Amino acid sequence: MRVLLTGVAGFIGSHLAERLLQEGHSVVGLDNFLTGQRENIAHLLRHPRFSFMEQDVSKPFRVEGPLDAVLHFASPASPNPDSPYGYPNLPIETMQAGSLGTFHTLDLAREHGARYMLASTSEVYGDPQVHPQPETYWGHVNPVGERAVYDEAKRFAEALTMAYHRKYGLDTRIVRIFNTYGPRMRLDDGRVIPNFLQQALRGEPLTVYGDGSQTRSFCYVDDLVEGILRLLQVQEPYPVNLGNPHEITVLELAETINRLLDNPAGVVFLPHRMLEGDPVRRCPDITKARTLLGWEPRVGLEEGLRRTIEDFRQRMGL
Ligand code: UDP
Repeated sequence: MRVLLTGVAGFIGSHLAERLLQEGHSVVGLDNFLTGQRENIAHLLRHPRFSFMEQDVSKPFRVEGPLDAVLHFASPASPNPDSPYGYPNLPIETMQAGSLGTFHTLDLAREHGARYMLASTSEVYGDPQVHPQPETYWGHVNPVGERAVYDEAKRFAEALTMAYHRKYGLDTRIVRIFNTYGPRMRLDDGRVIPNFLQQALRGEPLTVYGDGSQTRSFCYVDDLVEGILRLLQVQEPYPVNLGNPHEITVLELAETINRLLDNPAGVVFLPHRMLEGDPVRRCPDITKARTLLGWEPRVGLEEGLRRTIEDFRQRMGL
């Protein structure tokens, strides 16, 4: 296939591009480096089946030549207001990537007769009241909260993708991605795993927001990418959750990282710095992915963290 991938310089985008190339596909990667990083694709630029366009998805654009698949993965994704790369500091860009960017990529798929995949998010469930979250749960989102720029952009993007599927018969898919981690995460996007790993590697206390009883379920990036490739091969327009159902508290995550890195500094509890609406619990129900794709995560948290730590050490110059 010749695949257009937006957000190719992002954390997930760069891993997905690498895997598509390994499978023998050609990749046209697109990014404007708003939150993506040039170093994530430096090694791909030398690949004969990879080409790159520096482009904002919220502005119209054309792609020369045939396309078999369009994958829309471009968006800011970190909720941390302390980072310049968090979506609270990029509110308009985030809404444009999810709205205009989705229009543009859907139109492109239509023009080229290509299949389509939208990267959506567990954030469509907001601060969920159902645990674990199945795809049939409609969510609990505050439309005027600070997280709304991301949550509602992705909800709009899902609705738009379904509209193109229903009206034009476009061969679409929606993947709802839960917390994912691994090499190449931005060091400075303020998310929990990059923050904790850097703090532990420097021997500092880990900054736990609130009392650390909130839960997340962390999926190693290679597992996620495997699920995405499988979903690309089936025809299923309705959303599919991809994530690791192993749910832990933020405090347990901190303790695990401190143990793996022999960090004696412990944790420090900070007043809740995250946005109002920080989900109290989040865990994917992956029954649909198991049944439809025969997929489930393979890499456990400690193994995934060890692989991620190697990458962080190198990038931090340790
Ligand atoms: N968090 C934390 N310390 C940090 C960064 C994040 O305790 O230094 C918490 C945050 O409040 C949230 C969870 O970790 O409850 C996951 O945050 P992240 O930004 O990684 O992603 P989210 O799942 O909220 O999109």
